[in-house]
Amino acid sequence: MAEVAGARAELRRFGESLLAQVRAVAEHVTPAVAIPDSALPDLPEVAEWTDPLRYRFSLREQTSLPAGVCADEAVRRAFETLAAGGFDITEERGTAIFGARIVVTGSRDGFWIKVRVWPDTGDVVYAGVTPMLALLEPQAPLHPDPVRTREMVERGNVLCYECDGLGWCPGCGGLGWVLDDAGLRRRCPECREQRVCPICRGSGQLPTEGLRRTERAFYPELADPPVRQDES
Ligand SMILES: [Zn+2]
Ligand SMILES: [Zn+2]
Repeated sequence: MAEVAGARAELRRFGESLLAQVRAVAEHVTPAVAIPDSALPDLPEVAEWTDPLRYRFSLREQTSLPAGVCADEAVRRAFETLAAGGFDITEERGTAIFGARIVVTGSRDGFWIKVRVWPDTGDVVYAGVTPMLALLEPQAPLHPDPVRTREMVERGNVLCYECDGLGWCPGCGGLGWVLDDAGLRRRCPECREQRVCPICRGSGQLPTEGLRRTERAFYPELADPPVRQDES
């Protein structure tokens, strides 16, 4: 699969921009705490299992409220910086695992920044994600050659009725996944990622002896000859 020209560099720029934006918020909310360069990971993460995969950078930095700054003041400062940066902002107050929590969320052009503040403990967490980008060109659908043709069926066998000799799973063409209505990759429901035909297990043929009655019905040539009246 070919790389999308410039996508990797663009995603890196997104990551660096995210780091700069989170730093700007942190400098205002918790001025004593510097967000290190290492907060931005070296490699992006898979954000969506589409075909092709879509990637993004995410970062998370935990710190605590500076002396003399209460939670509401921190929230006010977070609003102020995000508003100055042109973000759409929402605020949520609720109870999480570690107690009461206020979350200020800013979104702009696919960037998301969250400032989470725990009033009881004074913990502050900055989190952010970049927009998502595909790094590879879409994969051409696989069209594998059949493992067996009618001429290659061994004595005592018949061509598999499920895959017609393809051997690979006919549901996903051997990929192991299918795309759902939203364009997301889902485990192939037919082969469950085994990639081969669930009936013949990849051999493309089935031993005639082992066929059940319902399976024999797929093969007119295996039908019992009609019983002649004068012989009965
Ligand atoms: Zn499959
Ligand atoms: Zn098969």
